[in-house]
Amino acid sequence: MTDESVSVACPTCGKEVQWTRDSQYRPFCGERCRLIDLGEWAAERYRVPGEPSPPPEKPDSESLQ
Ligand SMILES: [Zn+2]
Repeated sequence: MTDESVSVACPTCGKEVQWTRDSQYRPFCGERCRLIDLGEWAAERYRVPGEPSPPPEKPDSESLQ
């Protein structure tokens, strides 16, 4: 059994997080940072901040060959 305490840096705020089984939000320091990161990830994935959301692609009948 290893008794070493492993810590990582919270991706959101950079705070040191103990990497243990009790750290359910690892690698985040808490639920808040985890949600923030997930929110930013979703925002970057689905829409680029500062830019209007692109219009949905129209079905291109020409691509259906
Ligand atoms: Zn954090």
